[in-house]
Amino acid sequence: MFETLIYETPATGVVRISLNRLESRNAQNTQLLYELNDAFDRATADDSVSVIILAAKGAHFSSGHDLREPDPIANLDKYETVGTWCGFGCAGAEGWMAREKELYQGLSERWRNIPKPTIAQVQGKCISGGLMLVWPCDLIIASDDALFSDNTVAMGMTGVEYFGHPWELGPRKAKEMLFTADFITGAEAHRLGMVNHVVPLDQLETFTLDLARRIAAKPLFALKLAKESVNAAEDAQGRHSAMQTAFALHQLGHSHNMQLFGLPIDPRGAERLLSPKKG
Ligand code: ZN
Repeated sequence: MFETLIYETPATGVVRISLNRLESRNAQNTQLLYELNDAFDRATADDSVSVIILAAKGAHFSSGHDLREPDPIANLDKYETVGTWCGFGCAGAEGWMAREKELYQGLSERWRNIPKPTIAQVQGKCISGGLMLVWPCDLIIASDDALFSDNTVAMGMTGVEYFGHPWELGPRKAKEMLFTADFITGAEAHRLGMVNHVVPLDQLETFTLDLARRIAAKPLFALKLAKESVNAAEDAQGRHSAMQTAFALHQLGHSHNMQLFGLPIDPRGAERLLSPKKG
């Protein structure tokens, strides 16, 4: 049923969805994002499922958005969209914003509100767009080789479209992550509260599954209510409206780059990431 994912039921009440685009280190193209949305919907609609694990095949969780996708707007027309904004083929900022509102902000926010516990199981690198898959999950388990980064400021942007940085890392580390593009290790992410547990790579899958099993043994309705209560606390603190502001500023960044370079990102980004090196 899925070409870019593997959908399994490794234990009673537990579904594991694994990203499986090894040739691109699980880069997210339009197909992968909509298949992931369908897989989440399938697990959510199945009353026998209590917990959803989001994992990834291969050495790295995700290299981010697939910037090599040939015609992403034409591809988007093939899928049933989750938002109502539309206008993906419109010229200028209108079309660009529509696409990002649907695919990036829209999907990640939708997954954040799935009414069942979700656990991200992360190994290797999780770069930029990769954060928009793990941050919407309720719990994050990282292997001891996990590395997280957002390198979009180097490309003339504000940070990824689902702007979780201040909520995940605290304001100071969020700024450092954005300003430097440096990797944050699993251990550091754990210290900052972004990650629940760091485990050796060879124990990542069994540790995560054991945790999922223990959660799945609890009453599902109580789990849903507990999740909703914590999410409501974050939203009462302003998470949702702050993310909306960050998304608007993100679109201003794209428009600025389009005016200067004719591209949505500053093409000198790769050069900036190479030099000067840290340390
Ligand atoms: Zn963007």
